[in-house]
Amino acid sequence: MTNAAANNDRNETATADAPPRDFIRERVAEDLAADRAAGRSAAVRTRFPPEPNGHLHIGHAKSICLNFGIAGDFGGACNLRFDDTNPLTEETEYVEAIERDVRWLGFDWDELHYASDYFEQIYDWAVELIRAGKAYVDSVTADQVGALRGLWHEEGKASPFRDRPVEESLDLFARMRRGEFPDGAHVLRARIDMSSGNMNLRDPVMYRIRHARHHRTGPAWCVYPTYDWAHGQSDAIEGITHSICTLEFEDHRPLYDWYLEQLAGHLPVAARPQQIEFARLSITYTVLSKRKLLELVRGGYVQGWDDPRMPTLSGLRRRGYTPEAIRDFCDRIGVTKNHEAVVDLALLEHCLRDDLNRRAERRMGVLRPLRVVIENYPEGQVEQLEAVNNPEDASAGTRQVPFSRVFYIEREDFLEDAPKGFFRLSPGREVRLRYAYFVTCVGVTKDEQGEVTELRCTYDPETRGGNAPDGRKVKATLHWVSEAHAVDGEVRLYGSLFSVAEPDAVEGDWKASLDPASLEVLHGCKLEPALARATPGELLQLERVGYFCVDPDSTAAGKPVLNRSVGLRDAWAKAKGK
Ligand code: ATP
Ligand code: MG
Repeated sequence: MTNAAANNDRNETATADAPPRDFIRERVAEDLAADRAAGRSAAVRTRFPPEPNGHLHIGHAKSICLNFGIAGDFGGACNLRFDDTNPLTEETEYVEAIERDVRWLGFDWDELHYASDYFEQIYDWAVELIRAGKAYVDSVTADQVGALRGLWHEEGKASPFRDRPVEESLDLFARMRRGEFPDGAHVLRARIDMSSGNMNLRDPVMYRIRHARHHRTGPAWCVYPTYDWAHGQSDAIEGITHSICTLEFEDHRPLYDWYLEQLAGHLPVAARPQQIEFARLSITYTVLSKRKLLELVRGGYVQGWDDPRMPTLSGLRRRGYTPEAIRDFCDRIGVTKNHEAVVDLALLEHCLRDDLNRRAERRMGVLRPLRVVIENYPEGQVEQLEAVNNPEDASAGTRQVPFSRVFYIEREDFLEDAPKGFFRLSPGREVRLRYAYFVTCVGVTKDEQGEVTELRCTYDPETRGGNAPDGRKVKATLHWVSEAHAVDGEVRLYGSLFSVAEPDAVEGDWKASLDPASLEVLHGCKLEPALARATPGELLQLERVGYFCVDPDSTAAGKPVLNRSVGLRDAWAKAKGK
């Protein structure tokens, strides 16, 4: 799907008269108007710049929706740029996963780039800065660089190498590149202001020596540019007009601008990119940092990047999240410049439920089965009952569900000593079986421990389809699956990974609040026969139970594995009184 299609999909494409939705779109609209007034060509170009050091998470989705969304709204273009300046943490596997996830979310980039494609150009520009006396090779240790930089309330001190002759820095920098020095022997620093109130301007490091193989450039380089040095220059090379990033880079903006100013004569485009910051997304009961997510993967706390409990796009997809639900979520949370309260996970779940309610076909499945025999139902008889696939979508049609004398209901739908207010099955009580009949419990069978192993019921043949001709009512409708036709399945129930709302705020090890009960696996679940043909990725609602997604582990034919995507109860809507 193209940017425009994704936006049309949500029917929210900006029009001439609709006010911009957020402060960044306001800025873009103003810039475009100013450009037009000045007779300059007015085209917006944004970029989404992930570092390929892990899988994308829901926080990145916010940035993707913003960057691609703005390009789509203003008839511009958005690039995908891999910010691959650190060979120690980056891998091709992540590059591929990121491309897949951006496409899955419904966006397609205009140009695909890698910061590493610009290494030669950026190196040449660094040489220009050295020649202009704006950069120097420093040979103190990394610790000394840090110590000399000072604290925010006290001035930094100049390195003894700060006034090194230009020729000497040029020579050393060339030899750094040729690999003559070990890691850490020298760095290249910009020569700005050691007394600046902004720490980022106290002669920031531009290059460090790293003898490491890069996933794309292989052994070609052993000096690598820092994020600050590479990012703005990459933006300039690509003609990015609005370089949107998260708020922790606000203090870096003067540096971003400083580099561009020094290079003004060398840059390929007249228009200079501008950096705009917005608040990053945090969600309750999870962590959104690739570093931490990688720790969960490496430490075996989850089963991989796509573990359905992970906030990664691959995890959410496996959990049953749709791109539409995630884009809807990003629309609802909006974009601001304030560090906001952590977003309630319940809102994300609400968006999924909303979408699945519309698209997921209904099925019947019993997670914890209790056997029921209808004593007055003819042995060997099977009736095919018509069931509605999706009450929200008539085009989804109907299917046949087999009914017979012996079936399963949910164990929790029966209580021998029903308290007041429990309207499901209990001895002497009549209930409706979905699409089938009224049944009355007339007895129970127990094992030696006194546990109920089977219910005996009678049915009323006059109530086929679920209504009594005499108009009598029942207070509960239960789902069921015929024993002879049931498909055995595995169901995985997921809770949130963490047991506290803000795991990042916990003192000490952030992993201490991981919830060991975040995954519960149920075997021997009884599913209606239509599920024997379920294919991985298929989304469905098990009536009265929840929304589910067929897991790729469903390899054995007729042995489905279902992931619970989200329950039916909507905590968010309830809290908001909706
Ligand atoms: P992480 O700490 O998870 O690795 P990052 O910012 O280092 O995040 P990048 O790959 O550098 O990850 O991010 C690519 C883009 O996504 C950046 O523009 C970044 O600002 C944005 N981004 C990352 N995390 C979030 C978030 N939680 N909310 C909004 N945008 C985010
Ligand atoms: Mg990063």
